[in-house]
Amino acid sequence: MAARGQSFFGMRGVAAVPSYVVMQPTTLCNLDCAYCYLPLRAADRRMPVPVAEAVAASVNSWSTTGRFSVVWHGGEPLAAGREHLAALMAPFGPEVEHHVQTNATLIDDAWCDFFVEHQMRVSVSVDGPRYRNGDRVTRGGRPAYDRIVRGITALRRRGLPFSALAVVSRPVPGLAAELYDYFLDLGCDVLGVNIEETEGVNTRDNAHDVTEVTAFWAELVAAWRREPRIHLREIEWSLRYAAAVLDGVADDVLPRQLDPIPTIGFDGSVTVLSPELAGFTDPRYGDFSSGNVLETPLAEILAGVERTPWVGEFLDGVEACRSSCPYFGFCGGGHAANRYFELGRFDGTETEHCRNSKIRLLEGVLEHARDHQSPAA
Ligand code: SF4
Repeated sequence: MAARGQSFFGMRGVAAVPSYVVMQPTTLCNLDCAYCYLPLRAADRRMPVPVAEAVAASVNSWSTTGRFSVVWHGGEPLAAGREHLAALMAPFGPEVEHHVQTNATLIDDAWCDFFVEHQMRVSVSVDGPRYRNGDRVTRGGRPAYDRIVRGITALRRRGLPFSALAVVSRPVPGLAAELYDYFLDLGCDVLGVNIEETEGVNTRDNAHDVTEVTAFWAELVAAWRREPRIHLREIEWSLRYAAAVLDGVADDVLPRQLDPIPTIGFDGSVTVLSPELAGFTDPRYGDFSSGNVLETPLAEILAGVERTPWVGEFLDGVEACRSSCPYFGFCGGGHAANRYFELGRFDGTETEHCRNSKIRLLEGVLEHARDHQSPAA
């Protein structure tokens, strides 16, 4: 199924116009999850409104030509408070779609009113049933699960649709089916499943048994096929790629250029490709930022982004993936932060993350297909 990387010529370089922008309204998070990558989550550094105004000046011009999203991502974005978040959202035009990634613990009726008023789409972070949320704790070290569920219950009571994001720290047999059933009951429309990543301030090992990870994904696709009521992000990506390979159009799956995915830090700094790099520094790469919107328009920063030294090194790594990895047409060369935090540089190729979440994902979907093909096939 995975063709050799050399046959893929499509995707080159970084696009000057993103499809979405990530905004950090505050660095603060009211939880202290064991696997969190964020370096400043105990500090409340809030984004000043002029930063949002500067970002909106570019975003509003892009949004007139098609759908454009702003994703509010923290810290815990709701910890910025409704009044401040509304002030940060105000400069964006009516065509801009707002999304928030939240731990759900602060959601109540007043926040539900806010989501309705601002047509904000909500994605909650929850790792499955109560006993699977042991890493999700308050600043005092107490389990956060009841507070998470209280927030999700408020969304459900008000009939607001929501997505969910689950982190899996150890993919063991039986877990995928259990998780899928849990999220069916929870009532989310879309589910994303992340195998825990070693990045940022999270140094926990993410190497897993190959067979177990493949079996995890195969089990997840089997659970989804029994009752496909949720959009299951990773499985749908894989099936789309598999269908494209069978149709002979696999080279059309990746975009023509990498989406820069600019993350705007609370202070206006712009970090492209991987939000997880924001807030870190390295003697070789500096603070990873490509500029600051308080000094240079975002559109201008992105137009010159390939000149950021680490971005050039990352593009070399993408080329190394293209020429060496049979999964490149599906993966597109992985994520910058995983390379940096696992390999210490950007021009390497395989990481534990790409083994867990790209290679084994595709293999798991194929394993499921092989196990369920009809005898006549
Ligand atoms: S990041 Fe990993 S899976 Fe993706 S193309 Fe590179 S080596 Fe292959």
